[in-house]
Amino acid sequence: MIEQRRILATTIPGPRSQELQARKTATVSAGVSTGLPVYVERAGGGILVDVDGNQLIDFGSGIAVATVGNAAPRVVEAVRQQVADFTHTCFMVTPYEEYLAVCEQLAELTPGDHEKRSALFNSGAEAVENAVKIARHATGRQAVVAFEHGYHGRTNLTMALTAKNMPYKHRFGPFAGEIHRMPMAYPYRWPTGADACADEAFEVFTQGVHTQVGEENTAAVILEPIQGEGGFIVPAPGFVRRVADWCREHGIVFVADEIQTGFCRTGDWFASEHEDVVPDLVTTAKGIAGGMPLAAVTGRADLMDAVHPGGLGGTYGGNPVACAAALGAIETMRAENLCERARQVEALFRPRLEAIADKFGVVGDIRGRGAMLAVELVSDLERKTPDADLTARVNKACHAAGLVTLTCGTYGNVFRFLPPLSAGDELLSEGLDVLEQAFADSV
Ligand SMILES: *Cc1c(COP(=O)(O)O)cnc(C)c1O
Repeated sequence: MIEQRRILATTIPGPRSQELQARKTATVSAGVSTGLPVYVERAGGGILVDVDGNQLIDFGSGIAVATVGNAAPRVVEAVRQQVADFTHTCFMVTPYEEYLAVCEQLAELTPGDHEKRSALFNSGAEAVENAVKIARHATGRQAVVAFEHGYHGRTNLTMALTAKNMPYKHRFGPFAGEIHRMPMAYPYRWPTGADACADEAFEVFTQGVHTQVGEENTAAVILEPIQGEGGFIVPAPGFVRRVADWCREHGIVFVADEIQTGFCRTGDWFASEHEDVVPDLVTTAKGIAGGMPLAAVTGRADLMDAVHPGGLGGTYGGNPVACAAALGAIETMRAENLCERARQVEALFRPRLEAIADKFGVVGDIRGRGAMLAVELVSDLERKTPDADLTARVNKACHAAGLVTLTCGTYGNVFRFLPPLSAGDELLSEGLDVLEQAFADSV
């Protein structure tokens, strides 16, 4: 295990990282950018070790992926064994048990005790694409409704579902058709205030679908139970539940995109549980396999089995090494009670974020759940003017001090926290000290 403390051996990024970054510029497409160009050599617990010997505290988990931590022992062991046994046969050609075991775990862990089926894929975007395929096939309808501030991926169909132009969609059109977008119940920015938000947003949503799309034309409504890239927006209480119930009344498939929120991140196995929502289909990826590429669509057997044999799949989907990693990661989440750990992380972070809000007067909203938390920065607390510049400055100051942080949000003014659940309290507290200092230096 890597020693769990921050070490600044050089400036960040150090000379070796800078050399590698020069090689990167010469060989990697400029379209693939790096938020913090320190090149990682090893990682574990809550620490990333770079090629210059710096040890950085990780508040990002590689975008909510390394929930069990990097090189988590059960994941390492499962992968080691699987890689030595066999690495690929293609499940559609000659299957293997690990795929079934992952689907069994998904059936058990996702919300609801109805009959379920799963299909495995490689990335979150691919899972979302397939959820849409399944919903369209099963309903015989075409329209899909998504939300403002939503993020669902970077493939053509998922770009269409994603709300934000820069950097995800800019000049990449034309986009897939039959996608419609409705306002999200965003309490902090709801025009008439947070109290009215759930009711009014639900009304706008149902009226919008009715008048602009038609319920009978709508195959699916897709929603993140807590929005990720769009700004860690927690929908007003009751909104998600009402949308899900309304979808059921109209034979519309309700898809919960739990790619970022799933697998203990928000303090439950899945964020839908918080409001007792049982989605028809759930998409998962990110936290599922300790960093190995794996994604899934899990849901009602009647929908999942509606598709003709051969209609779903892919060469690599449900790769045996990725499946073994997922089984190791899920076992880790159970054995180490990581849902509970996510709640402890929230208890540790909240008072510190509130203190930062009180001290610097630039935090308009603190939100999120479990180990998926954020602050929205504004230059004017009354007018709620987004402050993307300050957000970028604080982010840079954190990086320079050896804390890996991420920003997000439609307006680029949200600071988000996604620490690995393998990080200890002491390390997280040190990271929060660094964060507070970064605010002091940047405001
Ligand atoms: C990251 C993400 C995706 C896309 O996943 P990829 O693996 O990057 O394709 C889709 N939906 C949500 C909610 C995400 O956070």
